[in-house]
Amino acid sequence: MTASMTHADWQRLAGELTHETRAFIGQRFVEAASGERFAVVNPATGETLAEVASCDAADVELAVRHAREAYNRGDWSRLAPGKRKQAMLRLAELMETHKHELALLDTLDMGKPIMSSLGDMAGAIGCIRYNAETIDKVYGEVAPTGEDSLGLVLREPLGVVGSIVPWNFPMMMTAWKIGPALAAGNSVILKPSEKSPLSALRLAQLALEAGLPDGVFQVVPGFGHTAGKALALSMDVDCLSFTGSTGVGKQLMQYAGQSNLKRVYLECGGKSPNLVFADCKDLDAVARNAAEAIFHNQGEVCIAGSRLLVENSVRDEFVERVLAHAETMQPGDPLDPASFMGAIVDEVQHKRILDYICQGVEEGARLRTGGQAVNPVAGGYYVAPTVFDGVTPQMAIGREEIFGPVLSVFGFDSEEEAVALANDSEYGLAAGLWSQDIDRIMRVSRRLHSGQVFVNNWAGGDMTVPFGGVKQSGNGRDKSHHSLEEYSELKTVWMSLSP
Ligand code: NAD
Repeated sequence: MTASMTHADWQRLAGELTHETRAFIGQRFVEAASGERFAVVNPATGETLAEVASCDAADVELAVRHAREAYNRGDWSRLAPGKRKQAMLRLAELMETHKHELALLDTLDMGKPIMSSLGDMAGAIGCIRYNAETIDKVYGEVAPTGEDSLGLVLREPLGVVGSIVPWNFPMMMTAWKIGPALAAGNSVILKPSEKSPLSALRLAQLALEAGLPDGVFQVVPGFGHTAGKALALSMDVDCLSFTGSTGVGKQLMQYAGQSNLKRVYLECGGKSPNLVFADCKDLDAVARNAAEAIFHNQGEVCIAGSRLLVENSVRDEFVERVLAHAETMQPGDPLDPASFMGAIVDEVQHKRILDYICQGVEEGARLRTGGQAVNPVAGGYYVAPTVFDGVTPQMAIGREEIFGPVLSVFGFDSEEEAVALANDSEYGLAAGLWSQDIDRIMRVSRRLHSGQVFVNNWAGGDMTVPFGGVKQSGNGRDKSHHSLEEYSELKTVWMSLSP
């Protein structure tokens, strides 16, 4: 099968798929101890896809025991990095072989367009490969001491890592967490979102086939308040790596404080500003980028460019151009390779987005397009690309993360005002900046309070650069060798030497 597969090909493949629905604990696929299951619904159609094992504290406890035993046994944690690399490269190879299936599982689970899921697979596989290739190139240090001593600074795995991930990029977020954690020698327990557990369970099958030892990679599907909370409160989990909402991120820090002070790395929400200055080169190309920045993945993107800040001298013309591009980005069947937007993840999120839109209208923002549910596939949850102009920072749609295809446009008259508006947010995940003036680019990108600044692009970057936020967008960094460092501990060995 190739990337040139048609809508009918994807529909046929979807019909042929079988789903692993059990948890993966201690190298076996098992039902939850309670026997409970939860329904996984395809938001494109509203139909139930599968009933998946609903893990709870008992299952998590068992997984943690296996993970600790694996760590202590050392057949992964103390394995030569070059050998861990080989096993991870085998896993990446298997993911490559099964990438259509993995992509399809994400699309069916959460409604994103199939071509977008395929793109995610390239990112996920690249991440596993990058970390595999990096781990045998990381050196320790010899401290600058006198001749009577030797100070070694070693890097050791942390132990047991719990990874809790969201549903918007299920496989890619998983890879960003487990790639560096496994490469560093940890035992990893993955808690996928209850809205998108199927690709994680397929990944567990592939990890088994790749030969990862017992207890090194386990998957506990379940809800946040059951499986997730149990992982976060465990006294024997050394680190939580989390991607999700800011509210849950705050809870995880509390759980760490209530339990064993485990490390907590958070990648949380955003309300990212995208600044367009009148001097940018090609206004129409920038407008297309600005529309893609919010409508990609139905706006269910942590770094969605949801606040568009436009210099007033070009604002009317620019907004017209954004509206024209938005028109071409209407949602369609996620299995159709031509669809730019797919379905919203579920009924709850669908309602939440529509409620925000009502609130925007009530608060006096000008609705320029969209604003309503649409129905390209019967039974599914879809929202038209929506643009509000005349938004102010006091409005809910100007401040809060909607996580849907809703763009809020603000105007500004000066660089000072643009920076102040951009920074007026509790979040600081990403920011965009469009200008041809190199002095302005340097000035403004330094002044934006944000983990990443995209200059004359949106969402650019690859595995070589860190991804993460400041303020209430979190404290962790995914990707690059910096993420690998997060999953290892510095240990000092001080040796006294005979003179
Ligand atoms: P969420 O916070 O509701 O859930 C994320 C994960 O946490 C899920 O697996 C969920 O089951 C689990 N969880 C929920 N409550 C929990 C609890 N009490 N204890 C332990 N685990 C719990 O987020 P979501 O709706 O899945 O994802 C959307 C959010 O994720 C948005 O805010 C988005 O910005 C954010 N996000 C951030 C990044 C980033 O890199 N910064 C990337 C993607 C998504």
